[in-house]
Amino acid sequence: MKIIDELKDAKIIAISGHIRPDGDCVGSVMGLYLYLQKEMPGAQIDVYLDKPADIFDCISHIHDIKSEFNTDRTYDVFVVLDTAPDRLGDAEPIYQRAGKKINIDHHISNTGYGDVSVVEPERSSTAELLYDLMRPEMIDEEIAKAIYIGIIHDTGVLRYSNTSPRTLQVVGELIKFGFDFPQIIEETFYEKTYRQTQIMGRAVAESVRFMEDRCIVSVIDRRMMEFYQVTSKDLDGIVNQLQSVKGVDCAIFMYETGESEYKVSMRSNGNVDVSAVAVKFGGGGHVRAAGCTLNGTYQDIINKLSIEIAEQFEK
Ligand code: 5GP
Ligand code: MN
Repeated sequence: MKIIDELKDAKIIAISGHIRPDGDCVGSVMGLYLYLQKEMPGAQIDVYLDKPADIFDCISHIHDIKSEFNTDRTYDVFVVLDTAPDRLGDAEPIYQRAGKKINIDHHISNTGYGDVSVVEPERSSTAELLYDLMRPEMIDEEIAKAIYIGIIHDTGVLRYSNTSPRTLQVVGELIKFGFDFPQIIEETFYEKTYRQTQIMGRAVAESVRFMEDRCIVSVIDRRMMEFYQVTSKDLDGIVNQLQSVKGVDCAIFMYETGESEYKVSMRSNGNVDVSAVAVKFGGGGHVRAAGCTLNGTYQDIINKLSIEIAEQFEK
């Protein structure tokens, strides 16, 4: 299947991804946006997404993204990328009104939604999957760059186990366009502001191991975020840092999003299916990387998660 076959007669198209968009989400959404502008010059194409982090300013036309969702437009087609429609946030009413709904994703927890559903959990990233839904002759340097960003962010720069021979082939084809990929990797993935580095250090320093040191957890509350003057966008990478601790099977990082409400990120080395744990609490993701939002004190939340993780260890 090529995505254009599903869009042929559409005059007005919306594209969106999940709340708190990560690199794969931003790269996929912008890659498809730039691509459809070339494929369908007569169509109106709008992108709805929470404002991406500043690191993504290197993506062409990133400021075309609409982060205000109060529109009365009805779209012929709505394309949801990198999530099931349950995490569209305030874009969901626009999705519900659309004539045709397309869902393209790689999350194992996505059971398939919409009129056309392309969910391939063996794909490293939605961006990689999307590349194979595009006509190669229409891809240019700016589209390639957006897709590349999606792939490197979801694979931790091609080092996670979700990286497949196909991932590397696609990346090989993308870097032929000649963009400065080492700079993209440095500036979008590794580089941190001083404050981001400080709060990461704090989270790592205060982390605690439990369950015979097979799990590690760290929590950042709102007071701490205020103290370091950071937002949730500044906390990326902390859970991965925790996962790097020798001997750890499962890393948990949580930050406070509201009164007794925490966003939970989990990472596993493969011995725990963290997607299954997240799904139990209304979230989702992949076997080795998943998340959910939970209410309660952080001790309550750790207890709840521990029970699920311990059950898996017993198996
Ligand atoms: P992160 O921990 O980086 O926020 O997310 C890890 C993976 O789990 C990502 O693929 C992300 O899309 C997914 N994920 C995180 N939180 C949620 C959630 O609340 N619901 C669902 N369905 N997926 C989530
Ligand atoms: Mn993804």
